[in-house]
Parts: sequence; structure tokens; C-alpha cells
Amino acid sequence: LQQLFRPLDMLGWVYRTIRQGLVDMAEMFKLIDTPVEVTDAPGAPALVVRRPSLVFDNVHFGYDPDRKILHGLSFEVPAGAHVALVGPSGAGKSTIGRLLFRFYDPWSGRILIDGQDIAGVTQASLRAAIGIVPQDSVLFNDTLAYNIAYGREHADEAAIEQAARDAAIWPFIEKLPKGLETEVGERGLKLSGGEKQRVAIARTLLKNPPILLLDEATSALDSQTEEEILATLRRVSEGRTTVAIAHRLSTIADADLIHVIQDGMVVEHGNHAQLLRHDGLYADMWNRQLREDADLSEAAQ
Ligand code: ADP
Ligand code: MG
Repeated sequence: LQQLFRPLDMLGWVYRTIRQGLVDMAEMFKLIDTPVEVTDAPGAPALVVRRPSLVFDNVHFGYDPDRKILHGLSFEVPAGAHVALVGPSGAGKSTIGRLLFRFYDPWSGRILIDGQDIAGVTQASLRAAIGIVPQDSVLFNDTLAYNIAYGREHADEAAIEQAARDAAIWPFIEKLPKGLETEVGERGLKLSGGEKQRVAIARTLLKNPPILLLDEATSALDSQTEEEILATLRRVSEGRTTVAIAHRLSTIADADLIHVIQDGMVVEHGNHAQLLRHDGLYADMWNRQLREDADLSEAAQ
């Protein structure tokens, strides 16, 4: 019988977690199949965020005991800097985001935000400090207002409108007969991929986190829409410590610092020009993408 009730307990827990606004909608699904093994240390204080730097210090981690994914990963993101993580698919980039949000604890090593080990602060304060824009944002079958304010029950309409303006989705919303009260999703208005990403960005902006994690936030979009959303993301990430995980290198070439991840380790780092001169993995990936782009535009003619 115990077994029977566990999923119900789990649902209740997920529901409460969302109600408390601790997680982003898109993260809920990851939470459901995440074992509830991460707990607050007794008497853990809240994370104190001034200008948050991030440090991964010799982090070892795997999802299964017999398969290690991160092999002594170390890197730093200076406060307010825009840092990109690139590397082959399966290298462990998204895993870094999950550890930062503390869905899992490292096997060994430390993760510091503003000098504080994230394992020693409350999860609520940690998650409040980080905004995530994932590749495919998930929307509720509910109104635009609900989707933007999601998790923040007391957000007023002016704040929601401002977030929508900053995410450059307001001109679209304004033209709808029902505006923010328009139902979206299965039985409502169908949004394009770019519009969905803008709603997700507005949601993140309303949270106003000092740290932004963009995990392939534009990779599911066509290149025109990608350009537009990138411009918005550049604007809203100003002044925030930003980690951008990217597949298309052209989208992060202007980052302050690029860490190249392979097999769960940083194998190269530097800015775009330095990494090209270094002529290693990054240069290979860059040249391959240039060739692919050339082939595509040839095929289009
Ligand atoms: P990237 O984002 O760089 O493509 P990920 O961090 O998503 O890579 O994945 C790194 C490795 O971890 C992959 O081999 C992937 O299959 C594995 N992995 C990711 N999530 C899980 C999970 N929940 N359980 C087990 N293995 C996982
Ligand atoms: Mg990934």
C-alpha cells in the first residue's frame, strides 16, 4: 500500500514546489523523474547574492554509479560576465545546468555561487537566483498572463506587461482581442516556437534572477527567429551573470569567455579569436559549421 501512495505523495510535492514558485515550469518535468535525494542541510542559510560569480571546482558526477559523466570539471564565470559552454552533444553541458540548479549533488568537488557552496544553502534561495531558458519552453494550457506570471501568484499586471515588453512579446500580445487574457495551448491560441521562447523569457524576467542559464535557448528556431531572439537575450542578459550553452557557435562567438567541454572536462577556454588561433577542438567545430552553412546556402540556391 505504501508503494501505491508514493506517486501521490510525489505529485503533492511537485504541486507544492510549483506553488511556492521554486521551479520554472519547464523544470517541473525534470523534477518528476529526479530522485528526491537533494535536501537542505539542517539550518542551512539562504544564498546571499551580491554580484554572483560561479565556480565549478573539480566536479565529478554521474547519474549512475557505474557511468561517470563529469571528470573533474573546473571553470569560472566572473560576476556579470557572459560565458559560453560549447562542445559535442553528450559532453555534459546540460548536466552542468542541472547541478547548478541542484537537481543533483556532485560526487565530489564543489560548486560556488558568490563564494558560497550551493550544497550548504537553501534550495529555495538557490533556485530563486537562477533563471533558466531551455531549448523548448513548455506552456500551460492557460492564459498568457498566467504563463508569464507562473509561480508568482502576486505579480501585478503592470509587472507582467513590463516583462512582456522586455521580452519583446508585448506588441504581439497587445494586438490580441483578449490581450494577456488570451488562452494559449491545446485548446487556445497556438504559438510559434519563437513566441513560446519569448513567453519563457518574459517569465524569467519577471523572476528577475541575477544569474541566467540559457540551454540551447534558440537552437530549435529558424535562423531568422534565432537572430531576433538572440538580440532580445543579449539585451536582457546585460548586467547578469550569464551562462549560455550553445550548439551553433555563431550564436556565442561574442561571449566574454568560452569553455569547450569534452567528455565532462574543460579542454580549451578563451575568447573566440583566441580559440581559433589555438586551432584545437573549437576551431574544428567552427570550421565544420562554416562548411555546413555554406552547403546549406548552396542547396538553397
Ligand atoms: P549535453 O548537454 O552536452 O549534450 P548532457 O549533459 O545532456 O549532454 O548529457 C551528458 C551525458 O549524460 C549523456 O551521455 C547523457 O546520455 C547522460 N544523461 C543525461 N541525463 C541523464 C539522466 N537523467 N540519466 C542518465 N544519464 C543521463
Ligand atoms: Mg544539452
